[in-house]
Amino acid sequence: NTNKINELTVWTINKENKIWKIKVNIVMLGSPGAGKGTQAQKIAIKYNLNQLSTGDLLREEIKNKTEIGKEIEHIISKGDFATDDIVNKLLKKAVINPVYRNHIIFDGYPRNINQAENLDLILNSDNQSLNFIFFLKVSREDVEKRILGRLICENCNHIFNEFDDDELQKTCCDNKKILKRKDDNLQVIINRYDEYMKHTKPVLDFYSARNNYFEVNGAEKIDVITGKIDQILGA
Ligand code: AMP
Repeated sequence: NTNKINELTVWTINKENKIWKIKVNIVMLGSPGAGKGTQAQKIAIKYNLNQLSTGDLLREEIKNKTEIGKEIEHIISKGDFATDDIVNKLLKKAVINPVYRNHIIFDGYPRNINQAENLDLILNSDNQSLNFIFFLKVSREDVEKRILGRLICENCNHIFNEFDDDELQKTCCDNKKILKRKDDNLQVIINRYDEYMKHTKPVLDFYSARNNYFEVNGAEKIDVITGKIDQILGA
């Protein structure tokens, strides 16, 4: 079987000084359009991790017309953030789920300091840790171009880009449509970028002193970025 799945593990010492091999949790940070989702997808497949995208969790609520979905639809279409209460609740359910726990790649969370502190709390209380933190750095111009070209499968949420000829397809998942996201227009992009600058920059300061924090140039080609992340994980 050529589709070999790698198991990503690190060694750790527990409270009784015993050495254990554990699976890992990873956080992907970066502005909207930095490529968090694209990279998280690739790394998740390669290392058999669960990609936990808060954007997808929220869009799922909207699609299913739940109470939360009705509350956040307008907020998200304007490019504003959902409240921490809502996001934290949805996230906690997934993080402690035995199927997902301890091999999660977080995409779109944490987006502010409150969420970063909350993530530490949830992980600690469930005997999990945060093993790698990646920040994908990209300029505002690159972000605008990427988001304007972004397309997403209505079924599996796979991301495509119309400026990237190699990846362009018309359908996905047995003829399901590939659509533009409602929040991917220029005004919304500016709004989302500004929101990011305001709230997420302090999250970088929160993590950057840790020795498992890595900055990666997000302006490079998709596979080059994946290669760099892969190299860090492998090391
Ligand atoms: P994304 O798919 O990551 O680009 O997220 C799409 C939208 O979902 C964002 O513009 C926010 O409105 C909302 N969202 C996603 N993650 C979060 C979060 N951690 N906190 C608050 N809102 C979020």
